[in-house]
Amino acid sequence: MSRSVIVVGGGASGLSAAIAAAEHGAAVTVLERLPRVGKKLLLTGNGRCNLGHEGFAWQHYHGTLPQGRRIMEQFDVKAYFRRFGLYTRTDSEGRIYPMSGTAASVLDALRFAAAQRDVQTECGVQVTGLRHSGGKWAVQCGDAYYRADAVILAAGGAAAPSCGTDGSLFPILQKMGYTVTRLRPALCPVPTDPARVRALKGLRVRADVTARHGDRDLKTESGEVQFTDSALSGICVFNLARYAAQYGDAAALSLDLLPDLDDAETASLLKNLMRQRGTLPAGDLLTGLLPKRIAETLIRQSGGSCNLPASECSGETQRSLLRLLHDWTFPVTGCASFTQAQVTAGGIAGQCVNRDLSSKLHSGLYFCGELLDLDGDCGGWNLTWCWASGRCAGENAAKGEQT
Ligand SMILES: Cc1cc2nc3c(=O)[nH]c(=O)nc-3n(C[C@H](O)[C@H](O)[C@H](O)COP(=O)(O)OP(=O)(O)OC[C@H]3O[C@@H](n4cnc5c(N)ncnc54)[C@H](O)[C@@H]3O)c2cc1C
Repeated sequence: MSRSVIVVGGGASGLSAAIAAAEHGAAVTVLERLPRVGKKLLLTGNGRCNLGHEGFAWQHYHGTLPQGRRIMEQFDVKAYFRRFGLYTRTDSEGRIYPMSGTAASVLDALRFAAAQRDVQTECGVQVTGLRHSGGKWAVQCGDAYYRADAVILAAGGAAAPSCGTDGSLFPILQKMGYTVTRLRPALCPVPTDPARVRALKGLRVRADVTARHGDRDLKTESGEVQFTDSALSGICVFNLARYAAQYGDAAALSLDLLPDLDDAETASLLKNLMRQRGTLPAGDLLTGLLPKRIAETLIRQSGGSCNLPASECSGETQRSLLRLLHDWTFPVTGCASFTQAQVTAGGIAGQCVNRDLSSKLHSGLYFCGELLDLDGDCGGWNLTWCWASGRCAGENAAKGEQT
């Protein structure tokens, strides 16, 4: 008789786990609390689903799960989807998208593959408890119980709760003895003093952005920064949001608006601009370099007056302007909420999990995806982890192996 496997959660990692377990001979049932599987997948990549990234780079991952490295090194995301008839294209920055340009076709490919392998899906079913006795698992959903030889937990983290992921499985797992590392929103805007950004709302500027804690530079990311009425946003900021969650008000983000120029080159550029635009209002001094509202803000922050001729800017204002162009600092004022976050940092600690993603505490229990304490940067790294970890957990749950 084939081994029975229940997968809790019909998201990216759960569908991948279900397909793999069924391919390895298991009778698989997916339990999903929402009316349909894959809601979050449809939102990914702004509806286009950045499903992976060219090459593999472990430095894009964070958390306490070194086991994840080997699992992903052995995984080829393009080949994985080609098997299901889904073809991909790669953009100039190495991000992989479905050829169709729509996330719906990724979900369809997974749904078709699951159905072709006789995976059963039960939606509108929320798992509220787990019990292991006599070598079998009983999965509780309110008053109902589902029984299986193995259970794969693929219920995600706490980010984007409207997609069914409110983290409610974590307290249940803690009671069972699992260590859950601190859950923090990741890949989200970084809140700052509204008075510093309100006037810049809607603007975008390219910059090198450095996360700072006190005098210490933590990490620098390059890209487009977007200003909202109370936060900095954009992919490069998303990738630094973990430091806002970690250090809160003690952190800051510094923007280098002219990263390709050193101080001497910037001084010479400013001197040229003074010569070319000295008779214009100071608010127009930098508008050949930067959007006007940013140019004016920098003049004001340097102590200058936007309406007076640029040539009347004091030496101190010019020195301050030089500094700001390379180090325009925004205080961090707390941390965004899980509602605004794409991913959860933290989760089931690596110390509770074997190399095959089985539990070290209970036999026949497996984990995959964002539920585990491993999260990636923007760029398709998170979904790569979901497909790869789902496949690993699914194969091993079907085989019933322990390492
Ligand atoms: C807006 C947005 C855009 C994103 N874009 C990208 C991108 O382009 N590329 C990328 O790599 N990553 C992206 N991500 C991150 C990526 O989507 C997630 O990391 C990934 O979907 C996590 O997959 P998962 O299977 O672990 O969990 P999820 O996809 O969150 O699925 C978990 C499922 O479990 C269900 N569930 C939860 N608890 C229970 C329960 N108790 N009982 C039954 N079911 C339960 C939930 O309803 C949900 O369907 C994005 C995230 C968001 C929010």
